[in-house]
Amino acid sequence: MFENAQRTEISTLGEFGLISHLTKNFELVNNTNLGVGDDAAVISPTPGYKTVISTDMLVEGVHFDLSYFPMKHLGYKAVVANLSDIYAMNAKPKQITVSIALSSRFSLEAVEELYAGIQMACKNYQVDLIGGDTSTAKQGLTISITAIGEAKEEDLSFRNGAKVNELLVVSGDLGGAYCGYQFLEREKRVYLDNPSVQPDLSGYDYIIERQLKPEARKDIIAILETLNIHPTSMMDISDGLASECFHLAKSSNVGITIYEEKIPIDPTTYNFARELDLDPTMCALSGGEDYELLFTIKQEDFSKLEHHADFSIIGFVTDSNEGMNMISKGGNKHPLQAQGWTAF
Ligand code: ADP
Ligand code: MG
Repeated sequence: MFENAQRTEISTLGEFGLISHLTKNFELVNNTNLGVGDDAAVISPTPGYKTVISTDMLVEGVHFDLSYFPMKHLGYKAVVANLSDIYAMNAKPKQITVSIALSSRFSLEAVEELYAGIQMACKNYQVDLIGGDTSTAKQGLTISITAIGEAKEEDLSFRNGAKVNELLVVSGDLGGAYCGYQFLEREKRVYLDNPSVQPDLSGYDYIIERQLKPEARKDIIAILETLNIHPTSMMDISDGLASECFHLAKSSNVGITIYEEKIPIDPTTYNFARELDLDPTMCALSGGEDYELLFTIKQEDFSKLEHHADFSIIGFVTDSNEGMNMISKGGNKHPLQAQGWTAF
């Protein structure tokens, strides 16, 4: 991928040279007293707030494929995936740490691209990079990010708070990232068969962006705050709607019924799924990485979200012995499957 670009070996900088080179231009905008450069970072949590922490690890060949994933986008997405978990607690992210393990296949220029993406995410979401760890690896690239956030105790939303008769809501639309993944895999196969063919991406921008440059729903947390809605339970959708419904129902000890016709699917996603002979509903139920928020609200909050373009009310909470169900477009009730297929 970087064959034609300038290639500087990381060994010319050494580990500490590399870290300071990569992190020197990051600004600290939050309650961080000491960032990168000492044995540990120092932060000052806001008095009266709880601290929330979440970690994710991305492994090359398992979670991403660098043959079509640009390093800059990978850095951005790695941060976004972590911040999404903090928002899913109804909290606000403040700091991250970034740990990487790299084989000698990666040049300094490649790692600079990765950090350019990380920096862009830090800027867009106003979070501070405060540390991490760096190691060589025998092969491939592994990135582990920890995000630290905060919220007032009464604002936190957990997976276990859903109650019978509450409404199930999802932000944005679903299945796009999975269709983007399918699209990129298809173009990769075409390219490997015939490297002279240039991929035609036009018309597919939306699903490609959902896969390569997802955003965490910072805006949704702000809207809920403005509307004075406290989600009774919440989580982010990283593994597909169906599996997240199961997690939420299990934690809350309830059942869930969703309506197929209410599941939000973008036209680009819908059309591409049809092109591949996939069921668009299945893409939304089982495709991962949408980073939308799934939450429950009290019935009395219904009118606040009913006509809001960013939200779809897709179902309701039932007693646990009613189990997990989906009412199809034809009006029939089917047991909801936790997995149609696994994307990764
Ligand atoms: P130690 O030997 O104590 O682990 P390091 O040399 O690994 O120290 O780290 C020195 C400083 O650089 C620390 O502040 C650490 O958090 C930071 N750091 C190390 N690796 C990274 C990285 N990949 N990204 C950001 N900060 C890093
Ligand atoms: Mg270290």
